[in-house]
Amino acid sequence: MLARTGIVPAARASPLAAAIAPPLRSPTILIARRTLATRPHPLASRVTPKGPVPAGKTPSHLRARPQRLSVLSAILLASLTGSLTYALGRQEASSKAGPTKEYKDPTLDGFTKALDEIRAWLSDEDLDTSRDTLVAHGYNEWAAHGPTGLPGAVLYPRSTEDVVKIVQTAAKYSIPLIPYCAGTSLEGHTTALGYANNPSEKDAQEKLARDGHVEVDDLVPGLALVLDFAQNMNNIVSINSHDLDAVVQPGVSYDALNAELKERGIPLFFPVDPAPGAQIGGMIGTGASGTNAVRYGTMRDNVLNLTVVLASGEVIKTRQRAKKSSVGPDLSRLFIGAEGTLGIVTEATLKLAPLLPSTVAVSSFPTIAAAAAAARDLVQHGISLACIELLDDVMVDATNQQAGKGARTWPVKPSLFLKFSGTKEQMAIDIERTKKITQSNEGSGFAFARNDKEAEEIWHSRKIALWSALEYLKGAKCWVTDVCVPLSRFPELITETKADIDSEGIVGPIVSHAGDGNFHALLLFRTPDELVKVERLVHNMVERAQRMDGTATGEHGVGIGKKPYVEAELGAGTVQLLRDIKRQMDPQNILNPGKLIPDEKGEEKRMAH
Ligand SMILES: Cc1cc2nc3c(=O)[nH]c(=O)nc-3n(C[C@H](O)[C@H](O)[C@H](O)COP(=O)(O)OP(=O)(O)OC[C@H]3O[C@@H](n4cnc5c(N)ncnc54)[C@H](O)[C@@H]3O)c2cc1C
Repeated sequence: MLARTGIVPAARASPLAAAIAPPLRSPTILIARRTLATRPHPLASRVTPKGPVPAGKTPSHLRARPQRLSVLSAILLASLTGSLTYALGRQEASSKAGPTKEYKDPTLDGFTKALDEIRAWLSDEDLDTSRDTLVAHGYNEWAAHGPTGLPGAVLYPRSTEDVVKIVQTAAKYSIPLIPYCAGTSLEGHTTALGYANNPSEKDAQEKLARDGHVEVDDLVPGLALVLDFAQNMNNIVSINSHDLDAVVQPGVSYDALNAELKERGIPLFFPVDPAPGAQIGGMIGTGASGTNAVRYGTMRDNVLNLTVVLASGEVIKTRQRAKKSSVGPDLSRLFIGAEGTLGIVTEATLKLAPLLPSTVAVSSFPTIAAAAAAARDLVQHGISLACIELLDDVMVDATNQQAGKGARTWPVKPSLFLKFSGTKEQMAIDIERTKKITQSNEGSGFAFARNDKEAEEIWHSRKIALWSALEYLKGAKCWVTDVCVPLSRFPELITETKADIDSEGIVGPIVSHAGDGNFHALLLFRTPDELVKVERLVHNMVERAQRMDGTATGEHGVGIGKKPYVEAELGAGTVQLLRDIKRQMDPQNILNPGKLIPDEKGEEKRMAH
């Protein structure tokens, strides 16, 4: 079923390759012939080819038709209307509140005209329709959803003005636009699906019905345009060290920003750390977090201001650079986690945090419940740990197996990877209190990194858990999923999920931002039967988390994969508010259509609502 032949040439040099490649192993060949084992339900398939580095993740980088209603007032109006409606339970009235605009679905003729118009001013090197590039952008190695859809072209804008011109042209011909940064999102966020007349999706569905599976390499291009920011809009605009902030373009990766701060000798860092290589535009898109979130928060807490190109082509700034502001609601947050469906971010002002000395320790526990309880107690006792990461025994085993020669390995038991940071005196106090709390939860072997290099290696091994998991079960693919619950429910959630995984006989390492009550299961499968079990496990995990007053996704976002769970979590009124905001801001539905926002019952798939 999972044929693999040949090698996929990367369309352009990948910015992720260097960042992600596990340093302790030799690189593995990238997979060429990628097969989609898919079924129509968005959660029913998994298409990840195994490999340590994403194949051909292309690096790379906005104005408008005047809108009568000013955009800010539109948003506020939509919000107020929606809130009031929700409060009154008048959802039906709300659903009719959007603007009435004539629907126009994209056509091949319109797509060709749009591309010709863009070609007239965008340089050849910034417009790519080669198959490798389309596949690299339409197909996500880690997203557990299919069928996948290819875009029709990939554009590499160089400025906000470029994006504006592209948006205006796309709006003229109703062409879908998919903003793209590093492509590490996990729920099908950037796949080119979700609009009417999509030849790529139609083709995939037909092949699926006929053959029972779809080969990515056989998919035909669609009518969407991908806007890739990694290549040309990857500049740090300014670093304001006295103000503890930096202004960056969307294609700057968080690790590149931190490397630049280090190189310039500025003792500050940007704390949000999802996949190595992930970029600010994409991190805003998913509302990302990571290992540091327990102390520093998520993207929602670390963005001061955004420059956004709206579907109308209008350019707005959400705030000024001041650390706090009481001028109205924080509209930056409207775009954080919006997955590119409400606007295209072309610049962001980010908060920076002081870089403090740190050290890393690992403690083992007899059961995952004990490890989870220790994490909960550490937070409840107010110990200001920088990171509290939980790995189950399987994940520790997988991590050990990837450790290079001479590198440290750990007892194959559920473990907490802890990062302390602060002054020496603060750390000494935190370490003593942490030891007591872990011991009171049956923790043992409180082992410290012997030096900075070892600390870095230990943390890197945590960051590349996905690749370690893939190496752990030869020939397997991985369905990565995340959920999050209130901290008091965390031990119960993780214990039940682990038991569920074991009872299905699935190898599914667990890795968790335990201090936030957030964990990932990396569910491995090799056969269609195992895929069915994995799908069930994901479904159970999400329902379990939602029952516990938690969420279907703590940080990965909705994309297409978690759309079926949004309404159960937010309620019909809130979902209707989301639709109303979308309708108000993007009446033609050209911005990343088909993602995040559940379709209305009985709604036909079409460009506009
Ligand atoms: C190994 C691994 C580990 C991971 N660990 C974590 C983790 O710890 N925490 C976490 O939160 N996530 C994690 N992720 C998921 C992923 O890294 C995050 O979702 C990340 O935020 C995606 O960034 P990206 O640059 O790859 O975005 P992309 O995948 O390119 O895009 C993500 C979304 O943002 C939108 N978007 C992109 N650019 C813009 C823009 N300029 N304007 C508006 N919208 C835009 C896209 O349309 C898409 O909807 C992990 C993934 C992997 C593979």
